Amino acid sequence: MELKICHMYPDVLNLYGDRGNVMCMRKRLEWRGIDAEVTRLPIGSSANLAGFDLVFIGGGQDFEQQVLLDDLHRGKDREILSAVRDGLPFLTICGGYQMMGNYYETYDGVRCDFIGAVDLYTVGSKKRMIGNYKFQCGTESGGSVVVGFENHSGQTFLGEGVQPLGQVLAGFGNNGEDGTEGVRWLNVFGTYSHGPLLPKNPAFCDQILLTALQRKYGTAELAPLDDAAELAAHNEMAAKL
Ligand code: GLN
Repeated sequence: MELKICHMYPDVLNLYGDRGNVMCMRKRLEWRGIDAEVTRLPIGSSANLAGFDLVFIGGGQDFEQQVLLDDLHRGKDREILSAVRDGLPFLTICGGYQMMGNYYETYDGVRCDFIGAVDLYTVGSKKRMIGNYKFQCGTESGGSVVVGFENHSGQTFLGEGVQPLGQVLAGFGNNGEDGTEGVRWLNVFGTYSHGPLLPKNPAFCDQILLTALQRKYGTAELAPLDDAAELAAHNEMAAKL
């Protein structure tokens, strides 16, 4: 078995080492004897997503989100939209998560029209939502408790009928108001959680990998791994929160 992973905009969307999530996915596949091929699609690269099994998009500052707009609207937007409708799994973080939605209006009043692949929008607020946080995924996303780190000015609001990724247990999540965190739409997983999200949340990582493997191969199972170190990191932060 093999997964072809696309890392989109690694050049501009990589806050707090979001790319560590790609390394984590690759490693957890390799430990089970499953091949993983990672292809980077920076600004200016081909928009073609054909042949990929999983797409990762990290987060970025308002400035970087504006920098990529021209490139996005040169074809990657349409390609992402049709891939989402086709059920391709995406893991998108913060600025990358906002990009899957309709638009982001920054606190300075700059409007970024995004992809509209998921019915959600984001509006910048004066107060930044910063800190370690935790949330519980919905059952369709595995139901695990995820510990993460968020840092965003944008408040995201989901359209009618769009399910969040989970419910906030501590911290802000989508907007600091309605208790929701992230989004789960078809096979899009969107979250505000930055940096080492997957290394310290192995159950959530495996849920995403399984989604991709099952879509590709019909059925798939993941052999258990020794997650003692990962769970020690996870449990320590979960207890603090
Ligand atoms: N610039 C966006 C915001 O502040 C996204 C931030 C991020 O990716 N950390 O809401």
